[in-house]
Amino acid sequence: MVNLMVVMVYSDKCDGIDTCPGEGVCLKVCDLDAIEIVDGCPFVLEEACNNCGLCVMNCPNQAMSK
Ligand code: SF4
Ligand code: SF4
Repeated sequence: MVNLMVVMVYSDKCDGIDTCPGEGVCLKVCDLDAIEIVDGCPFVLEEACNNCGLCVMNCPNQAMSK
């Protein structure tokens, strides 16, 4: 099945993993390791993400959406 939904990370709400008030909780809650850090910021690997929404629900900055 093709995953048509893509989780987005909004750079205006996420300054990066180093300053995250949740200490990078988006990475910790992703069971599929679908988030990697690129230039200090989380990046969702579309092919690995099942759109479960855990990262979206847990981000303290509401910096992710699906
Ligand atoms: S939606 Fe789920 S699978 Fe996709 S990046 Fe977030 S936590 Fe990981
Ligand atoms: S939890 Fe939110 S604020 Fe923290 S690194 Fe992830 S996207 Fe950025």
